[in-house]
Amino acid sequence: MFVSGLDCPRCGAQHDAAKPQNLCDCGSPLLTRYDLGAVHNAVTQAEIATRPADLWRYRELLPVVAMDNQTSLGEGWTPMWPAEAYGKAIGLSNLLLKDEGLIPTGSFKARGAAVGVSRAKELGARHVAMPTNGNAGAAWATYAARAGLRCTIAMPYAAPEICRQEIVAAGAELHLVDGLISDAGKLIAKLIAESQGEIFDASTLKEPYRLEGKKTMGLEIAEQLGWRTPDVIIYPTGGGVGLIGIWKAFEELRELGWITGRMPRLVAAQSSGCAPIVQAFSRGEKQAQPWPDAQTVAFGITVPAPLGDELILNSLFASGGTAIAVDDSEILEDLAEFGRREGLLLCPEGAACLSAARKLRASGWLAADEEIVVLNTGSGLKYPGTIQL
Ligand SMILES: *Cc1c(COP(=O)(O)O)cnc(C)c1O
Ligand SMILES: [Zn+2]
Repeated sequence: MFVSGLDCPRCGAQHDAAKPQNLCDCGSPLLTRYDLGAVHNAVTQAEIATRPADLWRYRELLPVVAMDNQTSLGEGWTPMWPAEAYGKAIGLSNLLLKDEGLIPTGSFKARGAAVGVSRAKELGARHVAMPTNGNAGAAWATYAARAGLRCTIAMPYAAPEICRQEIVAAGAELHLVDGLISDAGKLIAKLIAESQGEIFDASTLKEPYRLEGKKTMGLEIAEQLGWRTPDVIIYPTGGGVGLIGIWKAFEELRELGWITGRMPRLVAAQSSGCAPIVQAFSRGEKQAQPWPDAQTVAFGITVPAPLGDELILNSLFASGGTAIAVDDSEILEDLAEFGRREGLLLCPEGAACLSAARKLRASGWLAADEEIVVLNTGSGLKYPGTIQL
């Protein structure tokens, strides 16, 4: 393994990656660092090209030492294809869609769960717990079961029933909470405190490795373009783990010398019903304020107070990107329009990226011929009811 340690991006403290870790003492999430010089000597892009089509093809840039601890259901290496007809309709000649709907559990949360569960198991965890809006809980329950770990999930009653069913199907312990994900978080914190070290806190960004799993989206985008960067990547931002991960991927690739030239501009797409990052970005602030009364059809991005706000905003500013809010009505219109033109039923979070692309083209922020990648972060099949019959 090429992990050299865990860094605190806020206070600079170093933490031991050989032990289970949660947040830094200062409250910031931790970032995994690699000996990239050694990675450069150990593997080439040509060698990676010969490996199986899943996210473990990037194992030198992931934690987890022993193959035995690699818990996999074949996640990753999702298709990325040109959406020509829809792109043309909104004035973009080079629009690509990366479809994470094809991943086990129907959302890209499986990337984070595969790597997070594998590493937790390797570091000796026997029981993991977290709050969720739905997809993360479904993915972690699934991978924990496959790894032989116990799993406890808390989620709001209002979260989608299908995710509840996935969690129960995987044999996890499920707590339903009358409230938001923040209330589910309080319940999990209480259970963890009472467990006297038995339960490992796997909440979003409270452990460093789900970010590494989500980072592989960025690695794949670069490899699928022939080790090149697109001009812009548009990401539906809730907790922001994927956005932070994609930026980290491109930084690591640049340091490895596997990509050169300009970095992609990152765009955080949020719903106007929950847009703390858009608000902070527009004010030029480094931290986000909690969003009151958060609500949107795109439940995966209903995160009123993301723990990674500083890292998200830093990625947006550093990449020359932006943040934009779109209304639920626009999300549903673009979801339907995309289906009519390209056939695929998107998840609303993915459709939010298209609304963002349409608006950013209309405002001139996107040029007509720029290469734009949008992430469809989950399968539309998990969201019955987005299409009216
Ligand atoms: C969780 C989720 C998101 C947001 O992911 P973050 O990386 O936490 O911002 C987007 N789309 C779907 C479908 C999700 O489940
Ligand atoms: Zn710190």
